[in-house]
Amino acid sequence: MAEEKTWEPRVFQLPTDPEELAEGITVNFGPRYLGERVLREDMFVELGGPKSCGFDLLVTESDPTKVTDGKVTLIGPDFNEMEQGGIYPFVWILRVYGANLTERHTSLVERNLIEFQDQVEGYMRVNTRQYLWTRLTKKLVKGGFTAAELARGTMMMIKAALPDMVDAIEAEFRTCDPDAVRDQIENYAMPIWDKRDRYIGERKDDDVEHFFGCTLCQTFAFNHVCVIAPERPPFCGITMYDDAEIIIEMDPHGYLHKFQKGNLIDELQGEYEGINDAVRQKSNDTIKRLHLYSTISYPQTS
Ligand code: SF4
Repeated sequence: MAEEKTWEPRVFQLPTDPEELAEGITVNFGPRYLGERVLREDMFVELGGPKSCGFDLLVTESDPTKVTDGKVTLIGPDFNEMEQGGIYPFVWILRVYGANLTERHTSLVERNLIEFQDQVEGYMRVNTRQYLWTRLTKKLVKGGFTAAELARGTMMMIKAALPDMVDAIEAEFRTCDPDAVRDQIENYAMPIWDKRDRYIGERKDDDVEHFFGCTLCQTFAFNHVCVIAPERPPFCGITMYDDAEIIIEMDPHGYLHKFQKGNLIDELQGEYEGINDAVRQKSNDTIKRLHLYSTISYPQTS
């Protein structure tokens, strides 16, 4: 269990240039480690999860003075200062500023926050928000992986993916004092998540003129296409309607397309002329009808 010592904040300064950040990365990472699980016998420490508490959170700041680029603050023991086999609370907050960045872009940036962790060899990450559950292997921690190194890879990934949007990133970690963590969840993180969820839930299919289509899975399923509407996310859940709006703004010729929903054919099943035209065209004439709200008659492909 985590020791009861009081920890003062420690500050580390990382480079701000993405190439310099990348040059300093010493761990193995890449898509082949996606979904890796760390078993108890290989584990050095467990962070957050069902036996402790924690969360991760991305905050887009509108005030540039609130974000010092490359700064990392750690309150609590670093990974290599923890007791082997221990279970610790774990908070990490990433504050991001960009002149063109708004709260609407949060989930887009958040995806890149997740990406580096998922790809590190020996780093297991399960769930999000207050259900975050992480394990690090003995090999990873003994190889020198620290909180600052986690921040380094994440900052590099975000800056490389969104060079025109993100100007500065700062990270804050806490690995001690579960009562303080629970208080942060309740009084800081929860109101932010509630606000985001309310916004997502507010828009209805009737409120918009356009829907989006996604063909990302055509890399392996040639005629596959999904429709994304405010009340109808795709099966994979990877892109919500609001995310699709942002992604298409940044990459109008990518795997998402936008189309007019057109005339309503069947209100109960959610059939629209515009959807049928779009899926016919994007599925190479394979899918001719789609019912948004049915999993039996003309459902989304899965
Ligand atoms: S399953 Fe997800 S990623 Fe694949 S095409 Fe549908 S929305 Fe896109």
